[in-house]
Amino acid sequence: GTRILLTDVTKDYGLATPAVDGVSLAIEPGEFMTLLGPSGSGKTTTLNLIAGFETLTSGTIEFDGADVGALPPHKRNLGMLFQNYALFPHMTVAQNVAYPLKERKLPKAQIATQVEEVLELVQLTGRDDHYPAQLSGGQQQRVALARAIVFGPNALLLDEPLGALDRNLRATLQAEIHRIHREVGTTFVFVTHDQEEAMNLSDRIALFNNGRIEQVGTPEALYQSP
Ligand code: ADP
Ligand code: ADP
Repeated sequence: GTRILLTDVTKDYGLATPAVDGVSLAIEPGEFMTLLGPSGSGKTTTLNLIAGFETLTSGTIEFDGADVGALPPHKRNLGMLFQNYALFPHMTVAQNVAYPLKERKLPKAQIATQVEEVLELVQLTGRDDHYPAQLSGGQQQRVALARAIVFGPNALLLDEPLGALDRNLRATLQAEIHRIHREVGTTFVFVTHDQEEAMNLSDRIALFNNGRIEQVGTPEALYQSP
């Protein structure tokens, strides 16, 4: 996993207050870090800055000590998981998962091996030739998860990945994400407004409010009853 260091990060869209306002945060290698806070508090913008989808107004972002502020998204080697799975509908499960490996021009045999391994990891062995429309919402999200980690990303960024699922599926996929984080051991940065999700999954939580981080700590430290 990669160490992600944000120093005094600001994103100003010219609104009354900056969307992200002087955020500093060190996300340790292999850590499961959750950005938690109410709607509009700057979580997604922070994630988009780490991803390179948005440019910094000021501040720096480093991966393992290297400044990535000027790198476009595809050079940051990050996995992404969003609320809507965004699978390619005309590609099979195996083709969807193989896509990032083909982009990286890996040899065919190696692609096949890695696709099989990651489908086993997300427990979708045997679904290789299915199309997304033939799968349940939870299965589609597991394909998206497989596609996001198959190439060994520096980190996996997850933006409310459970938000579109019903209650049961949400619990199942939450457990799945927890297990996969432990097995893969890469750095996870997870955005949610759901405190319970954050408590269940996180090594540490960064509490956002009004574009700032108010507190950072383990779930136990943040939500200890007084
Ligand atoms: P959260 O993810 O916590 O819900 P966001 O990061 O999406 O918060 O948004 C933080 C603030 O920045 C909000 O006031 C939002 O409206 C504003 N914002 C986000 N993206 C843009 C954008 N592309 N242009 C203008 N304002 C934006
Ligand atoms: P979230 O569900 O994470 O809070 P939103 O629905 O607020 O996300 O925003 C979805 C997309 O719209 C994001 O890419 C965000 O950057 C953009 N966005 C949010 N607020 C604004 C805004 N006020 N003006 C322009 N774009 C915005």
